[in-house]
Amino acid sequence: MLELLQKKLESVFRNLRGYGKLSESNVADALREIRLALLAADVHYPVAKQLCEEIQKKALGKEALAGIRPGDQFVKIFHEELVRLLGEGEREIRPERPLRLLLCGLNGSGKTTTAAKLALWFRKQRQKVALVAGDLTRPAAREQLQRLGEQIEVPVYSWPDGTPIETVAREGRARGEREGMDIVIFDAAGRLDVDADLLEELAGVARLWEPGESLLVVDAATGQVAVKVAEAFAAKVPLTGLVLSRTDGDARGGAALSIQQVTGIPIKFLGVGEKPDALQTFVPERFVGRLLGMGDIVALVDRAQEEIDAQSMEEMAKRLKSNEFGLQDFLAQLRLMKRLGPLENLLALLPGFPGKEAVKVDEKKIKQIEAIILSMTPGERRRPTILNGRRRLRIARGSGTQVNDVNDLLRKFDSMRKMMRRISKGGPGKGWPKLAIPRALRG
Ligand code: GDP
Repeated sequence: MLELLQKKLESVFRNLRGYGKLSESNVADALREIRLALLAADVHYPVAKQLCEEIQKKALGKEALAGIRPGDQFVKIFHEELVRLLGEGEREIRPERPLRLLLCGLNGSGKTTTAAKLALWFRKQRQKVALVAGDLTRPAAREQLQRLGEQIEVPVYSWPDGTPIETVAREGRARGEREGMDIVIFDAAGRLDVDADLLEELAGVARLWEPGESLLVVDAATGQVAVKVAEAFAAKVPLTGLVLSRTDGDARGGAALSIQQVTGIPIKFLGVGEKPDALQTFVPERFVGRLLGMGDIVALVDRAQEEIDAQSMEEMAKRLKSNEFGLQDFLAQLRLMKRLGPLENLLALLPGFPGKEAVKVDEKKIKQIEAIILSMTPGERRRPTILNGRRRLRIARGSGTQVNDVNDLLRKFDSMRKMMRRISKGGPGKGWPKLAIPRALRG
């Protein structure tokens, strides 16, 4: 998203940085180009204008700092102003539990997908979460939600066709309470367009559901339309936040820059893909950093932290201490590492970790190890000591490897287990980064 804008900004900045001194006309020229680029990216006109005026005031009012190129100083001001523009409003999800969340949006905005994404996001934080299939107008919305629920292992409450929406809201709420849910997400009805009926229905549901959070999903790829839709909803439904979906597309996407300024509602999440884990919390500094072409290290670390299920780490540490850590845990770790993406990048970020060379991870090897472990019985995975020659041969055959590979894995697992036990004596938490890097995976 916003690639064109990014390219344009880059070239404007490059130009500016070439000057030893910035004159008033240099700044004015640069800002004219920036304003045009913002408008081309679909940023709302008054927002683009105001932003440029602020930057102009600050850029011209600032004393040049010794040792800093004026162009760099300009970039800094631009960065600060954008963060300020995006930074207003309360972005945290309300802490109260149980929390009832109402999710609304037009058909096709990505609402149902977002419901699943949010459910997974909460689940990863060890919250007990359920989904309510409250979109009875779009055929198949309920089935879609049910399928997604199964995929992410989150219960979906649904009622048969023809059930009044009030019943769904009332009973969904009661069931969530009965089952001790921390979060219940109501996937509300959508329409092709904003119309009075829809807003009426949503207002009615909101009265019964009494949401702690009401989020509106808007499709970032629709640019100015997204801003208009958000304005229309916000006028009738008490919204607490926005989710911008499809920010991964190549659309102009400037809606992201103006939507909260225009509606006064903070963006809380970004949808960045179709899969249930393609959701990011909206962090203005990070968004601007990415737009201005700065590295996105924060996102990487953030993702790592979300992925690591603290509970399973604690359980693993417990099993380690009682010497019950088996190959199944090892496999869980492997999968975790696979999900984390480019491992070298991630590992290089961990404090106190040796250079990249030391941790080159062989993806092929991960696959092989996975195949070997999957060919074992649960008992074998728990107690690898029972693996005699005959069993090892069977496992090698089953996984399409050689007995040597099986032996090698078991040796490495054993030494890893010893190493991990040493680390775990420091207690879980402190040792996690090291805990997550089995020695067997290093080249
Ligand atoms: P609903 O009608 O609003 O419930 O929309 P859906 O959740 O069914 O989404 C419509 C389509 O958009 C589906 O094909 C989704 O996979 C896709 N989609 C949703 N969110 C995103 C996103 O953030 N990025 C991309 N690329 N696709 C998305």
